Amino acid sequence: MGAIDAWTLVADAWRAGIQPDAVVQVSEWADDNRVLSRKVAAEPGEWRTARVPYIREVMDCLSVTSPVQDVVFVAGTQVAKSETGMNWLGYVIDRVPSPFLIVLPTLTLAKRWSRQRLAEMVESTPAIRAKAAEKRSRDSANTILEKEFEGGSMVVVTGANSAVGLRSMPARYIHFDEVDAYPNDVDGEGDPIGLASNRQDTFGARAKRLYTSTPTEKDASEIEFRYLNSDRRRYHVKCPHCGTEQPLVWADPDGRRRLVWTDDDPDTVMYLCVDPECTGLIEERHKPDLLAGGRWVAEAPGPNKAAGFWINSLYSPWVRWPALVREFIEAQKAADAGDLAKLKKFWNTRLALTWEQPGDRVKSHALLERAKAETYRLGTVPPGGLVLTGAVDVQPDRLEALIVAWGVSEEAWIVDYRVVYGDTNEEEPWNEMRDIMRTPIRNAWGRDLYVRACAIDTGYNAQRCYAWLRNHEHEGFFGVKGFGEEKRPVLGKRSAQDFNWMGVKVDNGAHIYPIGTFAAKEQLTGWLKLEGKGAHRLHFSPDLNTDFFAQLTVERLVTKWIGGKAKREWWKPKAARNEVLDIMVYNMAAAWFIGLPRYRPIQWETLQKNLERDDLFRPVEVIVPAAVEGRETPPVEQIEVPAALVSPAPQPALEAVSAPAPQPVAHVTTPTQHPIARPPARRMGSSSYLKRRR
Ligand SMILES: [Zn+2]
Repeated sequence: MGAIDAWTLVADAWRAGIQPDAVVQVSEWADDNRVLSRKVAAEPGEWRTARVPYIREVMDCLSVTSPVQDVVFVAGTQVAKSETGMNWLGYVIDRVPSPFLIVLPTLTLAKRWSRQRLAEMVESTPAIRAKAAEKRSRDSANTILEKEFEGGSMVVVTGANSAVGLRSMPARYIHFDEVDAYPNDVDGEGDPIGLASNRQDTFGARAKRLYTSTPTEKDASEIEFRYLNSDRRRYHVKCPHCGTEQPLVWADPDGRRRLVWTDDDPDTVMYLCVDPECTGLIEERHKPDLLAGGRWVAEAPGPNKAAGFWINSLYSPWVRWPALVREFIEAQKAADAGDLAKLKKFWNTRLALTWEQPGDRVKSHALLERAKAETYRLGTVPPGGLVLTGAVDVQPDRLEALIVAWGVSEEAWIVDYRVVYGDTNEEEPWNEMRDIMRTPIRNAWGRDLYVRACAIDTGYNAQRCYAWLRNHEHEGFFGVKGFGEEKRPVLGKRSAQDFNWMGVKVDNGAHIYPIGTFAAKEQLTGWLKLEGKGAHRLHFSPDLNTDFFAQLTVERLVTKWIGGKAKREWWKPKAARNEVLDIMVYNMAAAWFIGLPRYRPIQWETLQKNLERDDLFRPVEVIVPAAVEGRETPPVEQIEVPAALVSPAPQPALEAVSAPAPQPVAHVTTPTQHPIARPPARRMGSSSYLKRRR
C-alpha cells in the first residue's frame, strides 16, 4: 500500500477530468445525495450518517482523498454494513467515475443484489438516476451483471464462485462482500480475492478494496484473518457516568458478561462500565449519545496496514439490547438441549465474533499416539483385514496411493501409503502405481490379498485420467470426482465423461463416479473419534508419519452464511495439504463400489474363515521391511473366497479351473480374490475355492 499524498490523488482526479467537488468525502456525498427507499430500509428517506456515526470513518477511508487502500469491516447484522458499500458505490458513480467491481459469494446472489439493491439505489437516489437514465435509453448492452453509467463508471457485479466473472475486467475499486462465504478456491484457479485483485494492477496506489463480512468459524474466517492483520480499530464510547472510553462488548475475554439483566427478564438489561470503580449503569436510552460521542481507536496502528473496523449489533440503533438478550436466552436454551446452531448464529451475526465448535475435531497427534500402540508394519495385512481397496490422488508431479484393508463391520486398517513421483502426463508414474495396486499384500496367515477396486481421482487433469482409465477400467480401476454438496451420497451413479476432441462421447470411454465428499468426511470424522477395536474403527501402522495424520485431520466442518442462510462445508487452511484425506475418502467410495457397507455378517464370517484359517499355519508375524523392499515371499496355498460374496464382477466360467499352474517364487501371481489387473483366465485357474467345491 504505501502512504501516498492525498493531494496527489486530488491532482490525479483533476487530470482525469473529475469535478473539483469530487474531493467531498463519501459520508458527505451520502448525506447530500443518498435516498433510501421503503423497499430496503427500516428508515426510508434521506440518508443521515449521524444516525450511525461509527460508519463515517469507514466510509471516509474509501474517499478518493484518503491514502488508505484496504478497508476491512467486520460487522454484525443491522449496523449499516451494506449501506457502507452502497454509499461508496454511489459516490464513485457520481463523483469519481471508475470501473467498480462488486463480488458476492455466488453468482445467484450477485444477480439478486443487482436486481434489488442496485436497482433500488438507481431508482431512489436522484444523483445516480440522472447518470443511469440517459444510458439506459440508448444502450442495450447493459445487463444484470454489468451496468454502465454516464460519466464513465462501469459497475460489474459477480460471484466469488465464478472465475470468469472475477477476471472479467480491470477494476479500480472492488467491494468484496460477505467474504467469509467465499469458496477457498474458484474453478481450480485459486483464491477468489487474489484472482479479482489482479484486475487492479494498472491502477496502482489509486486502487481500493473494501472487505465486509459477518465472521464465521475461528481460524477459518477470512474477515477475521484480515482484521487481525489490520490496524484493528474498535469504536470506543464514553461512559455517561465516569467518562471512561471503552468498546461495547458482549463479554470480557474471561467470559464475564457486560450486558446484565435481572431474573431472566430481558427488559431489565443494563451495560456494566469497564471501570470497576464506576458505579453507574449504562442504559439503552444512552445509546444515541454513546454513538455520537464515540471514536475509533486503533489497537495495532502501523504503516502499510489495512484500516480494520469491527462492530457488533450492540451498537446498532435498530437492535435494542433487550431484543439481543431475548435472542441470547433462547439460543442458550437450545444449546443446553444440545442444539448449538442458534448460539453460533447469535455469536456470528449479532456479536460479530468467530465461533469455535467445541470438540468437533480429532487432533492429529492423538491419532499418531494411537498408531504407536499398533504393531503391524505397512505393507502387511494385520489380522481382521479381509478385503483391500485402493485410491489414487493425481497431482502434476506425483501420484499418491493409499491401500486400506477392511474387515467385519468396516473396521479398517491403513495397509500401505505410497507417493510415486514423476510427471503424470507421462506413462512412468502410472505404470508404477499400477504395479503397486497389482502387487498382493500378505496377511498374518501368509495369504495374499489383492486390491479389489481402486478409485482414481480425476479432479486434476481429467483428460489424462480418462485416457488412462480407458485402458484400465476393466482391471478394477475406476474414475471418481469429488463434490462437496451436503446431500450427495458417498458413491453416486456412474456416468460417461469421456469425450474426444470433437466433443463426441468416446465409445467404451472412461466413466466417472461422483463422490459425495461432504458425507464421506462427516462419516470419517465420526469413525476417527472411535478408539479400540470393533465396527468402524480405523487402525494406523506406526510406520506412518506425522505429516500423514496432519493431512488426514486438516479439514474442519464450518458453517458459512450465504444470503442469510447457513451452508456447511469442509474447510482447510489455504495451502495446507489434504491428499491423504482425499484418498481415504476415495477408499471409502471404493468400499461402496464393491458393496462392503452392505455385507451381511455371514459374508464377513465366510471371508474370515477362508483367509484367516489356522489349519495350515499358525498366525505368523509377516515381517516385511517396509513397503519399498517389495513383498514377494514364498507362495503358500491360495485360498479363494466365494466369488459371489466378494465380487460384483461377472462370475468366472468353471472350465478355466482346470488350468492351475505352479507359481514361481519370485512372481506371486496367484490371487486369493478378484484382483486388480488380472487376466480373467489366470484368475480362474487359481481358484482353489472352486477346486475344493468339486
Ligand atoms: Zn463508567
